[in-house]
Amino acid sequence: MAAPFKLVSRLALVTGGGSGIGRAVCQRFAKDGASVVVADISEDSASETLRTLSHDQQGQEHAALCVDVSSRQSVEQLITLIQRQYFRPPCVCVSSAGITLDEFLLKLEEEAFDRVLRVNLKGSFLLTQAVSKALVASGSSKGVIINVGSIVGKVGNLGQANYAASKAGVEGLTKSAAKELGRFGIRCNTVLPGFIATPMTAKVPEKVLDKFEGMVPLGRLGEPADVADVCSFLASDESRYITGASIEVTGGLFMG
Ligand code: NAD
Repeated sequence: MAAPFKLVSRLALVTGGGSGIGRAVCQRFAKDGASVVVADISEDSASETLRTLSHDQQGQEHAALCVDVSSRQSVEQLITLIQRQYFRPPCVCVSSAGITLDEFLLKLEEEAFDRVLRVNLKGSFLLTQAVSKALVASGSSKGVIINVGSIVGKVGNLGQANYAASKAGVEGLTKSAAKELGRFGIRCNTVLPGFIATPMTAKVPEKVLDKFEGMVPLGRLGEPADVADVCSFLASDESRYITGASIEVTGGLFMG
């Protein structure tokens, strides 16, 4: 049985918090007792998530802020705003902001390649760097970085050369960060979702989703909460000896 309120008094930042997996992570962290900063490029979606967050613990204070994770200036501004509001940097950071721009390799435009890399990979880099810099500067002895990769980064996917490359990059980035930041008490891990029912996968043709669903040993597509529960474990002290790991949340799809 998981400890109740296992993130009490933690400050958590979740990018892509306005939708899908990021929203479920915000909701789970709030239930775990954390104060949550919901960050998204869409201010309206971030505010919508904010309205759904529970406040069962004394001192829990949530916020919704706008960020474009692909811009260094925007990410730095976000961290500055958080430190001004909470007088400390976030000790948990989940990078869930992500996009797809699917096209077969033979037709893939350079701009679609660059945009997906800018948001998914560079965005994770900018957040990982900005949060760990702020944690080290604050003298904190504990931090958690969770980057959302994808099982597609390991196995590739038709029409997703840009996306698969970005997610493979996220795993390499996170493992390198884990090696460098362990001595500062900062743990860095990647979660690798399979097919999860969110607005992102709503764009995938039904017949493709049905095909993948048929291949999942657990017999269903994932729910955002399936991924959020793993993030909750990775954010908590229950995973205190785990860093540099990539945890598949796929229902067994494409297991190695
Ligand atoms: P989603 O589209 O529901 O949510 C993504 C969120 O990211 C949106 O709220 C969007 O506004 C935000 N966003 C996009 N660009 C941004 C930017 N530049 N700056 C800040 N925010 C930005 O998608 P999701 O399914 O919840 O995906 C969340 C993460 O999980 C993504 O990184 C995605 O690649 C990854 N993932 C999803 C699945 C899946 O099956 N849904 C599988 C594997 C990995």
